[in-house]
Amino acid sequence: MKSCSKCLLPETHETIEYNESGECNICNQHKFKNEKIDWENKDKEFFEILDQYKSKHPYDCIVPFSGGKDSVFTLYKLAHEMKLKCLVVSFDHSFFRPKLIENRTKIFKKLGVDVITFTPNWKIVQKLMLETFLRKGDFCWHCHSGIFAYPMQVAIKEKVPLVIWGEPQAEYTAYYSYEDTLNQNEEVNEERFNKFVNLGISADDMYYMLNDKNLDKRDLAPYVYPSEDELKNLNFRSICLGSYFPWDVKKQVALIKEELGWEEDLNAGIPPEYSYEKVECQMQGIRDYIKYIKRGSGRTAHLSAIDLRNGRINKNKAKNNIKKYDGKKPANLDLFLKAVGLTEKEFNKIVKTHTVFPANVDPEKLEKGKPLHDSNYWDKSAPMERSYTEKKLNNFNFKK
Ligand SMILES: [Zn+2]
Repeated sequence: MKSCSKCLLPETHETIEYNESGECNICNQHKFKNEKIDWENKDKEFFEILDQYKSKHPYDCIVPFSGGKDSVFTLYKLAHEMKLKCLVVSFDHSFFRPKLIENRTKIFKKLGVDVITFTPNWKIVQKLMLETFLRKGDFCWHCHSGIFAYPMQVAIKEKVPLVIWGEPQAEYTAYYSYEDTLNQNEEVNEERFNKFVNLGISADDMYYMLNDKNLDKRDLAPYVYPSEDELKNLNFRSICLGSYFPWDVKKQVALIKEELGWEEDLNAGIPPEYSYEKVECQMQGIRDYIKYIKRGSGRTAHLSAIDLRNGRINKNKAKNNIKKYDGKKPANLDLFLKAVGLTEKEFNKIVKTHTVFPANVDPEKLEKGKPLHDSNYWDKSAPMERSYTEKKLNNFNFKK
């Protein structure tokens, strides 16, 4: 496979393109971020936005929050450094790990913030996971849609028009660039939501796709992005902190550890030096494994690319890590299989139908990784009813 001469990301990476010298568009954005953006001016712009909203509503802003490194840093900046009155809104995707829950409790207490956590109906989550896995080879629709739609619903309900997110997408893909950042094009709005968050499937589409007589349209309410009119009436702004301050994950992780006692927790399929990454989800290793089968590239490649761009590792180190850690079958794959009622054989077959050319990975040949230290404590009650999954497989002609 073709790959970037600088960060090694392969041609199957979302949105990637290469220039004549073999460097990718994401590396170029990174250069733009470091060389062309006047961050002092962006900083000023941020405080101008705050001035428009501060002390005028029940809260100064809403901070969508998981408890991972990015949202913790964002909340620290806003609630502690800038002394804003923040309403923390947290969408529980059903797979928080024990350490994450400890981190959240500790941080909410230390920062002194009001928190709304919403946990959607598990039975619906299961159906959504299966449906989008079959259709798109990506089971995270419920999580991504909920995380981005639900805080906007709260903004309307609580009459808090300013929503502040963490890292901009320009950091990782080219759906938006840092040039867009400069022109304020990467606002976290419905356009961005439809562009890549929800896989092109709205909650309304999803209701009809599920085609399930036991389902009530209201069951999908947590995933509905509020209407443009409602948001406009609120005079809303929904922005990324990382569009106004240069995002630097490693520095930020050091800061939240020091200041808040935030703790790392190694996830599956990545080297221990990246224990700060994606601490929030039991399913992350499984998502990354699926990506590896589809695209021939996993999370270690993604993390190495960031470090290569920042000149923090060399290509040899990156290549060794990628070889050693990417493409291991998660020891906890059964967590997903049980949640959606699939066998591993069916799982492999479904993922293979979503392969991105020219990746060509045979999942039967991949080695098994080590179980995560806390996996014995993960809840596996309420598996999917097999009869539901079988009906779906028949409809999709995926059965053996
Ligand atoms: Zn690159």
